[in-house]
Amino acid sequence: RRPVEKLRDTINDTQDDRAKTKAKAAVIHWFKCDLRAYDNTALHLAAERARESDIPLICIYIVSPQDFQAHLTSPARVDFILRSLEILKKDLAALDIPLYIKTVAKRKEIPDQILELAEEWGASHIYANIEYEVDELRREALLTRKAAEKGIAFNAVPDTCVVEPGKLSAKTSGNQYAAYSPWYRAWMAYIHEHPEALELYAPPAKNPRSAREKFRYIFELEIPDAPDDKLLSDEEGRRLRSLWPAGEHEARKMLGGFIEKRIGEYETRRNIPSVNGTSMLSVHFAAGTLSARTAIKRARDMNGGCRLDTGSEGIRVWISEVAWRDFYKHVLAHWPYTCMNKPFKIEYTNIKWEYNDEHFAAWCEGRTGYPIIDAAMRQLANTAYMHNRCRMIVASFLAKDLLLDWRLGERFFMEHLIDGDFASNNGGWGFSSSSGVDPQPYFRIFNPLLQSEKFDPEGEYIRKWIPELREVKGMAIHDPCGRLEREVFEALGYPKPVVEHKFARDRALARYKEGLGRS
Ligand code: FAD
Repeated sequence: RRPVEKLRDTINDTQDDRAKTKAKAAVIHWFKCDLRAYDNTALHLAAERARESDIPLICIYIVSPQDFQAHLTSPARVDFILRSLEILKKDLAALDIPLYIKTVAKRKEIPDQILELAEEWGASHIYANIEYEVDELRREALLTRKAAEKGIAFNAVPDTCVVEPGKLSAKTSGNQYAAYSPWYRAWMAYIHEHPEALELYAPPAKNPRSAREKFRYIFELEIPDAPDDKLLSDEEGRRLRSLWPAGEHEARKMLGGFIEKRIGEYETRRNIPSVNGTSMLSVHFAAGTLSARTAIKRARDMNGGCRLDTGSEGIRVWISEVAWRDFYKHVLAHWPYTCMNKPFKIEYTNIKWEYNDEHFAAWCEGRTGYPIIDAAMRQLANTAYMHNRCRMIVASFLAKDLLLDWRLGERFFMEHLIDGDFASNNGGWGFSSSSGVDPQPYFRIFNPLLQSEKFDPEGEYIRKWIPELREVKGMAIHDPCGRLEREVFEALGYPKPVVEHKFARDRALARYKEGLGRS
């Protein structure tokens, strides 16, 4: 059985024990990728349980360096998480709710640590939102069982997706959808039939006053520093902190600004990397400082109705983009092997990749000689973010033009993105390398030059990120090596293309065909 089904079974098996559990001295909420007080399902339920029994709510967050390593969490993302925790801790303290942050060396110790804390505080109930990566689902199932053995009720509840994975299945086959469009129609229909899917959860009420005295030591604890292998340099820290203010207040402010001022033009501007055409909210969805529910509801309300498929095109398209995040989490929950370094389409395992370290280094460092690729990779290096159009272009370039194993790129993205999210990243790489769910066909190979001319026609994005090319005028910006006099090009100090696109395209077609066993 799939880990998500095993978790559901365990939840069902322990249901009676949990229903019988009597409130004792405290209720715990365990924060993970849900670093917000507003519209947080498990936090809300925990707070309600505590309020009904007039006992305190205690929140915990476990820092696990090994977890960060296992998830390839980037230093930028670790820093964003710790900054968001700082804000959350203050907000909760204003409600007399302590947030206990503990560092645990080994990730497998996390369930025992949580139970130890629960016993120390006399907590009867623990709440947490479900995450859909395989290890997380297994950990949640283990904790549910171990807690039940100790007479503690662990409640793992769905929250991160607007529609819970497993709720949508194809009408004819009853299976999980493997294509986005029919899935999206079913997703919208589900929300229309279940308007409660977009009901938002109130933040917790104040704790009893005695909580502040009793748990004084928790209020006084400081947020830990990032683990040594995830530290940012001072300069990086300053740069990224000013680019990406953390916490849920900032998230809601950004959402409001986007929906009130920019969402109407989303459809026309979202593919132009030089303009501020997208919401830039992915960092908040990934840290959970904003819920997808809040975002979709706010956008739908702005569209003046209760349907998702009517009204302004900009809003409709944006909602359909946020839905991709749900889609990839549904895919991950249903096909957990995608979490295990395997392509969704197993036949793509047979493709013979090039193992060219120099090409990979040139891609990572933004010196492939293709300006649009290099601009995008330098945007990533500078800001820990990359525009969606450029993510598709550089991913296609890695998997097709350089014919390098897409998993190298997937890994590099997770190690550098501030919005790194396993399901969306894996889905994006699967799409671009043609090996994922609902991918672009293997014979569709982006021409980096045409992509550059189409989506950065004036070369503004390229000039912003590649100082060597700032003075290049006109169409030569897209292909300086091919379009400038040799001496002029050589004086720029910019590299020649590492591969020739026509040759690379033919090579990729042949290799993909061979791997897939097609003639
Ligand atoms: P907007 O255009 O404003 O979209 C709103 C939200 O919708 C995003 O914040 C995001 O949560 C969701 N969304 C939009 N497009 C997608 C998509 N294609 N897949 C899944 N969700 C989407 N997104 C991540 O959040 N984390 C990743 O690690 C990640 N890796 C990617 C890797 C590749 C190779 C590709 C092609 C895409 C990847 N994406 C990832 C999806 C997308 O590029 C980003 O979500 C988007 O660029 C974030 O910018 P935004 O918030 O301004 O997006």
